Amino acid sequence: MMHFGLTEEQEAVRKMVRSFVDKEIMPHIQEWDARGHFERSIMTRLADLDLMGVCIPEEYGGSGMDYNTLAIVCEELERGDTAFRTAVSVHTGLNSMTLLQWGNEDQKQRYLKPQAKGEKIGAFGLTEPNAGSDVAAMQTTAVRDGDYYVLNGQKTWISLCDVADHFLVFAYTDKSKKHKGISCFIVERTFEGFSSKAIKGKLGIRAGNTGEIFFDNVRVPAANLVGEEGEGFKIAMSALDNGRFTVAAGACGLIQACLEESLKYCHERSTFGKEIGKHQLVQQMIAKMVDGLETSRLLVYRAGWLKNEGKRNTRETSLAKWHACDAAFNAACDAVQIHGAYGYSNEYPVERFMRNAKAPVIYEGTREIHTIMQAEYALGYRQDKQLRRMLPAWPFTEETVEV
Ligand SMILES: Cc1cc2nc3c(=O)[nH]c(=O)nc-3n(C[C@H](O)[C@H](O)[C@H](O)COP(=O)(O)OP(=O)(O)OC[C@H]3O[C@@H](n4cnc5c(N)ncnc54)[C@H](O)[C@@H]3O)c2cc1C
Repeated sequence: MMHFGLTEEQEAVRKMVRSFVDKEIMPHIQEWDARGHFERSIMTRLADLDLMGVCIPEEYGGSGMDYNTLAIVCEELERGDTAFRTAVSVHTGLNSMTLLQWGNEDQKQRYLKPQAKGEKIGAFGLTEPNAGSDVAAMQTTAVRDGDYYVLNGQKTWISLCDVADHFLVFAYTDKSKKHKGISCFIVERTFEGFSSKAIKGKLGIRAGNTGEIFFDNVRVPAANLVGEEGEGFKIAMSALDNGRFTVAAGACGLIQACLEESLKYCHERSTFGKEIGKHQLVQQMIAKMVDGLETSRLLVYRAGWLKNEGKRNTRETSLAKWHACDAAFNAACDAVQIHGAYGYSNEYPVERFMRNAKAPVIYEGTREIHTIMQAEYALGYRQDKQLRRMLPAWPFTEETVEV
């Protein structure tokens, strides 16, 4: 049996987030974007609405909803602005879901629970100045010293760098083992030797907070090692399966926003004696947006369904992310085109959509990395195996979520 509809609960969540975005983000976003201001209180409001741990089981402080409900939340948030969807992507997708999958009971109690309730914010530190797509080129090290690991190095382009309380940080515990020598740690902002600095002058996501984090002899308790030593690369890749899912879902929201603004303008603006929506070449751009939105949603919800089933979904999530982010960028460029010169000014939101739409084509696997992945799957060069620890299937039961 195939279902293409949303459940009543999913519809209710969509309605709630849409109304929240319309009331609390839309009226201010142009100003926040122009000022390069991240409005921290939005995270608190999302916590009030139980949206900071959408698909985290209730016993760990979350709402216990299914993975596609998280997609719907991301979609609706990005309809408002990419900055807030990015915040949920790193907090829930990259950090909390990773703790749910790989963390031990102690780590879930100390870190996952407060994050899922929205009392603490989580982020994800993988990228370094010389290591983006090529993760194994990272230079950050973690050296064991009694009951601690001592971290030295730096990460860059880290979303919520100045905002997050906890970071999942990846570092080499044994460089000679290459990617099998990378380990994953929970680092608190308050640990001595930790510092952060925002990047200024970004093309888009200006209402977001992105920047560098530094580790200067940061002593991290050994109890904060996630998984086992040497499992960091696997953990990072499985975290990306969840992060990418939220990015793909968000891209659907950006296409939706492009479509809404473009449809409005098509009816308002006339040239050559008719509204521009009557010109076939403008219709072509609208039709491409509809196509991008609907096909992206199908790919996203299929990836979410696989997560609900507790199955590996790296290939399907990568395809959804690649397709949806490209479609969103194209939709945003066309939305500006439809608005003509007015689209080129911040009098209309479409220029912000276009600037925002570029980052998701770069982060969480560039367009080129996803292209390569898809080709390698097709050619049989890449296969996914069951991981030592899988994300729990939904509905959550004691058996599926137990450590
Ligand atoms: C707004 C924003 C927020 C971000 N947030 C985070 C975050 O929270 N945490 C985090 O860890 N990182 C984050 N990132 C970093 C992001 O994940 C990296 O930028 C991304 O992985 C690409 O790495 P890079 O920028 O070093 O590009 P590179 O890897 O240097 O790539 C440069 C170019 O070469 C291409 N290329 C590279 N390798 C190949 C290949 N084998 N074949 C073909 N082409 C190739 C790429 O596709 C790209 O076009 C963020 C980035 C941005 C822009």
